[in-house]
Amino acid sequence: MPQAVAGPEIERLIQLLGRMPGLGPRSARRAALQLIKKRETLLAPLAEAMRIACERIVVCGNCGNVDTSDPCTVCQDPGRDPTTLVVVEDVSDLWALERSGAVRARYHVLGGVLSALDGVRPDHLNIARLVERAADPVVSEVILALNATVDGQTTAHYITEAIRHLDRKVTRLAHGVPVGGELDYLDEGTLSAAIRSRTAF
Ligand code: ZN
Repeated sequence: MPQAVAGPEIERLIQLLGRMPGLGPRSARRAALQLIKKRETLLAPLAEAMRIACERIVVCGNCGNVDTSDPCTVCQDPGRDPTTLVVVEDVSDLWALERSGAVRARYHVLGGVLSALDGVRPDHLNIARLVERAADPVVSEVILALNATVDGQTTAHYITEAIRHLDRKVTRLAHGVPVGGELDYLDEGTLSAAIRSRTAF
């Protein structure tokens, strides 16, 4: 076991930072040191921002998004197309789609995907509320923007069955060649999905 080079408070800071996605122990030490060096301009404002966020963050009772208000900012936005519901696994997917600017619709965050291996069942996810929302007569299309993984697609099939009686248009994201992608570098699964999902030119 390596000897501690700092007091328990700093070791704790490093340990917590090390739990962040994408930060290994080395990067966590570097980040901690940077925060300590910039105590007034970085560490103190960050601690304050985190304290406020910690107090005010709520899960939107309507869509499952996280925000500081319930209903969330997205649900309250009158500029969004109310006829389309975009279903995503996680808040990070909602943020990613918003960054793309490709859709100005309403979202529904499931909070995960079905997984036999991890024991995730339909009642663990925000699916019952999705069925309620999709039943709103104003909704005409449900876009299943789920990951192209086995669990993502299993979840997409489950949702399709759960809302079939509502007779809504149910679509999913296209699978295939990424923008800027070269065919020679693609795996066989992606390439065959791209052929199957070909569109008129
Ligand atoms: Zn919301």
